[in-house]
Amino acid sequence: MRYMDFNLYSPSGIAKVMDEYGVAPNKRFGQNFLINEKILEQIVDKAGVGQYDYVLEIGPGLGALTRKLAEKGGTVLALEIDRGFIEVLKGTLEGMENVTVLHGDILKTDLMALSREYAGGNPFKVVANLPYYITTPVLMQLLSSKGAVKEITAMIQYEVAERILSEPGKKSYGALTLAARYRGRPKLLIEVPPPAFYPRPKVSSAVLQIKPWDIPEFEVQDEEFLFKLIRASFKQRRKTLANALSHDPEVKLSRTRVFEALSSMGKPQMVRGEALSLQEFAELANCLCPCK
Ligand code: SAM
Repeated sequence: MRYMDFNLYSPSGIAKVMDEYGVAPNKRFGQNFLINEKILEQIVDKAGVGQYDYVLEIGPGLGALTRKLAEKGGTVLALEIDRGFIEVLKGTLEGMENVTVLHGDILKTDLMALSREYAGGNPFKVVANLPYYITTPVLMQLLSSKGAVKEITAMIQYEVAERILSEPGKKSYGALTLAARYRGRPKLLIEVPPPAFYPRPKVSSAVLQIKPWDIPEFEVQDEEFLFKLIRASFKQRRKTLANALSHDPEVKLSRTRVFEALSSMGKPQMVRGEALSLQEFAELANCLCPCK
């Protein structure tokens, strides 16, 4: 089979390729292939991939998105955990000289080392149809790896996109919203229904773009403490901040200290974490920081 003979845009085409190579979709690795060619092209367009870009694709699968990325002429590095697909990719990516396929687990990969080895130390544009079982840890890894990632364009579960784009006071607002916002500016690009994939996932999806800040938007004296505070505030969202923080072993703060900090910020004693914006969490973290 030559690459021109592959049709990765229909369930029957995917089934044929898998049959040919003796592989099958593996739920354990979140394998839902994007078969809608128009959406694949939209993702690549919105990512603005050009010939001078270094692109990192997480989970190329059978190579449908990889091909579209490579056609734009940049340098594409595709990291796939499923060893069975590496052989398939040799076929579906045949003739694409600007693609390197690596076998590995993104969560065990040092992105700075990858950028040094494959991108001359330049940051990657990450473009991916992410495996949904690890969406949050992968996004956190990408967002916190300063210097190795300049932009993320990723298909994720719609519900996770909603949490990332949420606002104070909404049910979906929480630790993930604040962590993502602290690291960058998220933008919803495309809403994607289940029939765009094979096999069909149970949930809707969305393509989100996040550009990490070069410098955080708000000045924080101790980032680690900010994240401890955020996690503690949302462990039990119905608790007031003073209750949540004074009972949390990670932050160990007295109610009096929390009351003082809230009062200095003009906030009521009974306020809950879900009511505070990122800027207010940053202010609270600076007030309560053990680093002072
Ligand atoms: N890019 C293909 C597409 O759009 O059709 C496949 C996307 S599929 C949702 C997710 C892909 O990520 C699968 O190929 C899966 O094997 C791979 N994957 C899962 N866990 C991974 C990990 N920890 N590191 C790298 N790749 C992973």
